[in-house]
Amino acid sequence: MPPPPVFRFAPSPNGFLHLGHACSALLNFDAAQRVEGRFLLRIEDIDPTRCRSEFEAAIYEDLGWLGITWETPVRRQSDHLADYRAALDRLAALGLLYPSFESRAEIACLVKAREAEGIWPRDPDGAPLYPGAAKSLSAGEQERRRRTGAPFALRLDMDTACRLAGDITWTERGSGPNGETGEIVASPKVWGDVILARKDTPTSYHLSVAIDDALQGITDVVRGRDLFQSTAVHRLLQTILDLPQPVYRHHDLIRDNAGKKLSKSSGATGLRELRAGGMTPEGVRGLIGLL
Ligand code: GLU
Repeated sequence: MPPPPVFRFAPSPNGFLHLGHACSALLNFDAAQRVEGRFLLRIEDIDPTRCRSEFEAAIYEDLGWLGITWETPVRRQSDHLADYRAALDRLAALGLLYPSFESRAEIACLVKAREAEGIWPRDPDGAPLYPGAAKSLSAGEQERRRRTGAPFALRLDMDTACRLAGDITWTERGSGPNGETGEIVASPKVWGDVILARKDTPTSYHLSVAIDDALQGITDVVRGRDLFQSTAVHRLLQTILDLPQPVYRHHDLIRDNAGKKLSKSSGATGLRELRAGGMTPEGVRGLIGLL
């Protein structure tokens, strides 16, 4: 018998869950049930400034109310920093990382200067690509600055990483923002030299997702379409680190009445608010078209 498919829902405890989270969680849970697969919950709490234990407790409560059950123990990313460190060491040994010491203000200033000269590219989330020159610091200068104790982020040398990885694709069972589906050609370069270890935490969203999906044996990644483009970076890391590739299904985003993507503070669509207003779990399924 082949091993069962493994699904996951991976919220960040930096706010209360809303209908968009309910949609992702239920799509994963229902899909796992349909194929007699496993359903895992993962707490993505690497951001020490925004994640709080009361939000984590609320995630368990809200998902339980929706009728979702998950395997325990739950993987909490902040408990596994050594796994991300090990991956960073491998990437560093391949010569794919460099330290970047600039402050946010310095980066904003550099972007402004680039924009004054012409159009400076932005990533799929709308943030300007890294404009700095940290990649060309000599090894000696990098070492000298590290020894001063100056904080730094570790960035991926995207050009070299892409050369090493060659052509990359992924299997999309849902669709991207322009209806892309099937075998997708990954274009991680649109993200520039992404940060893989932040100044304030020794990992990043992209790195920890790629590592955890592999360590947890995730076969099916079902998540919102806002993460479609990020998949290119995840596939790049999987390829370089010899990790297995899941299949992906990016689903429609739930939007508010004004057509905007829901945010953690979107009160009217918060699961707690809906529950307090008398909504049932069936009612939530109805609202997101999952009855
Ligand atoms: N933690 C991410 C979020 O809350 C989701 C990560 C993923 O599904 O890949 O948006």
